[in-house]
Amino acid sequence: RAKRQGHNTIYWYRHELAIKASESVSLRRDIQQAIDNGQFELHYQPQLHGPSGRVTGFEALIRWQHPERGFVSPVDFIGLAESTGQIIPISDWVLETAFRDARELNALGMSDFTMAVNISPMQFQRTHFVSDLLRMLEKSGLAPELLELELTEGVLMENAAWAVETLGVLRREGLQLAIDDFGTGFSSLSYLKHLPVSKVKIDRTFINDLVSDHRDAAIVKGIIAMARAMKLQVLAEGVETHAQYAYLSRHQCTLYQGFHFARPMPLARLKVFLDEHHRAQKATVAQAGGNT
Ligand code: C2E
Ligand code: MG
Ligand code: MG
Ligand code: MG
Repeated sequence: RAKRQGHNTIYWYRHELAIKASESVSLRRDIQQAIDNGQFELHYQPQLHGPSGRVTGFEALIRWQHPERGFVSPVDFIGLAESTGQIIPISDWVLETAFRDARELNALGMSDFTMAVNISPMQFQRTHFVSDLLRMLEKSGLAPELLELELTEGVLMENAAWAVETLGVLRREGLQLAIDDFGTGFSSLSYLKHLPVSKVKIDRTFINDLVSDHRDAAIVKGIIAMARAMKLQVLAEGVETHAQYAYLSRHQCTLYQGFHFARPMPLARLKVFLDEHHRAQKATVAQAGGNT
């Protein structure tokens, strides 16, 4: 009986693997169709300066509206696209679209923001990454200072010498550089000092229970203190509640991104959001002025 159960377990295991494998084959084919038929979209999530309430920038996040599967999360296809190499055409599309939309915001009179784009490991490690990126940037007419690249610790640690050199070139071109998901990658702090980055983004897994878990609180306070001492900007990701925001701001965090402030949204909605936000801010300033 036990033997039989064992057999069944193995059978089911193999069955599941077979399903997984065929799913990934069909997902791979679907990704190709999405590339060819333009099924991807970029949404933009605002980033805010806490003390002033000003919107300082946006993170571009890819969205895939699949004709049958519906919405597919980037968590479920970016990894696969990395392993098949499909991430390269996807990334080119992301960069082109983000540059074009940033230019559209420029055309509306906005020029004091950064457009943050996630850079995947494979994309970063390509030989012509820098020259291709700079060529696309120049073609778009977007000021290099408005572009921020988000890289994860893992990517930067993998080939440290190359990373330091590459980031140095990008920095000298005027781009902003941020370390994404900071705190999850075991990167050594001594290494961080050699990286010419301008910002660290505290991973949202530390923000989640920040208010109730003293260990998460300790990590977050440590990252903020270190970033400030190293004159880096520090942004908290995934801030969902006022309590989290209040805690972070008491501990000198300055930049925020999360559902508490705004969700990722298409460009058309972003424009409306910015307009309303700007108006609300003006009203607050006027009111404060009236009170003093
Ligand atoms: P990430 O770069 O760390 O992006 C932040 C993720 O947190 C986004 O998930 C965003 O929607 C989500 N988020 C923001 N605020 C909150 C919050 O308050 N609560 C919660 N629960 N989540 C929040 P998303 O859009 O699903 O993207 C997941 C990951 O996929 C990204 O993590 C990034 O690693 C990758 N990704 C997304 N777009 C791109 C892209 O264009 N290129 C590449 N290479 N990777 C991308
Ligand atoms: Mg990111
Ligand atoms: Mg992140
Ligand atoms: Mg992430």
